[in-house]
Amino acid sequence: MINTNSVTHTGLSSCSGEFLDAKLESCFRSSVQAQHIRQLRIALFVTAGLFLVMGLFDYLLLGLSETFLRLVVIRGVVALAFLVLAVALARHPQLLVSDIPLNAACLLLITSLILIVPLRTEIIGAQLTPAVAATLALYLFIPNRIPWAFACCVYLSAGVLLAFYSTGLVELQGMVGATLALLLANVIGLLASLRLNRLQREQFTSLLAERETNQRLQLEIKERQRLEEELRYLAQTDGLTGLNNRRWFFELAERELKRSRRDGTPLGFCMIDLDKFKAINDKMGHTAGDKILATVAALCREELRDTDIIGRYGGEEFVIALPESGPADTYKVVERLRARIEQYQFPKEFVDRNLTVTVGMAQVAPGETTLAPVLARADQALYVGKRRGRNIVIVDAHCSKEAVLN
Ligand code: GH3
Ligand code: MG
Ligand code: MG
Repeated sequence: MINTNSVTHTGLSSCSGEFLDAKLESCFRSSVQAQHIRQLRIALFVTAGLFLVMGLFDYLLLGLSETFLRLVVIRGVVALAFLVLAVALARHPQLLVSDIPLNAACLLLITSLILIVPLRTEIIGAQLTPAVAATLALYLFIPNRIPWAFACCVYLSAGVLLAFYSTGLVELQGMVGATLALLLANVIGLLASLRLNRLQREQFTSLLAERETNQRLQLEIKERQRLEEELRYLAQTDGLTGLNNRRWFFELAERELKRSRRDGTPLGFCMIDLDKFKAINDKMGHTAGDKILATVAALCREELRDTDIIGRYGGEEFVIALPESGPADTYKVVERLRARIEQYQFPKEFVDRNLTVTVGMAQVAPGETTLAPVLARADQALYVGKRRGRNIVIVDAHCSKEAVLN
């Protein structure tokens, strides 16, 4: 499809009714090619049929005479040529791209019409009608370019008038009348054909403009969707660690709480706090501290299931919700996480000792409808862990030891 941005202008030639822009014109023609081929094939079949049927009138008029046989040959050649072209067009549509086959057929038809005139002198007066009809048909029913159609019709008019004159049977008055009739047919045909050409092309331009607007709209919609996606990501994500931010963590955890109450499944929580992180920040710099926070976040993600929800709770604190995890499962996961962080070898330029975390864990108790109590218990457990010397997982006192060890 054509990119209308590359089209310099969509102006139309006043002589041919075609686009002044050659690229646009060729694009228009390929868009109507199939329709033109259909139209042309119908015209070719109808003309061939009419030409053959007219042979019957020849017979009635002339009987089995030599003139009749000549007419049969002329009609046969034209009809055959038209049928061949109609069949060829169906197989090779590109024949229409070149103007030659179509105009060769038109010239053959016109020549035969001119040749027929002196062969049917008995009805010379009635031969003006097919000439006028052919002129109008050449302009209006044959999908030809206007300059070619004009040239064909001028040839037809001049040829028929010359043929009339050559018979010596048409008087001056009759010649003037025939000239006027053919002139009128040419003027009407030409103007109507010009108008038709212009209308078709104007319609095509509107279609292109509409498509362009649609494409722009589609792009705009995509861009909006992308922006929305980006906004949603920014609204839900912590920029430094890529984890859920605190607000979004609460949103997701609330949903899990409701689900666990509805299904009667356990839900574990834990708070993780980096040990002596201020000292690392002070010694290694804030940038190193940021890198450590991002690394710890990634380690946590690796250790958790996809269904677990982790968020950045505050500065160097993370919070995790573990759906369908009882005390034993939650403990196992967070203990593994604590050990993983303790053993992880951070680059020496970030931290010059092993980094550790303290974890406080708690379980949602039956009947609890909000997050605040369970998070408070996890926080308390964390506080206990800090007092006990850090690098430890402390289970909230409300969870029995047996439940954790099971
Ligand atoms: P504790 O073991 O008792 O938790 O000691 P701590 O030093 O980790 O705790 P404290 O609350 O005294 O210090 C937390 C530090 O975390 C202070 C602050 O500079 C640092 N911090 C908080 N947010 C960020 C951050 O986004 N980037 C960096 N680099 N540091 C942060
Ligand atoms: Mg802290
Ligand atoms: Mg800390």
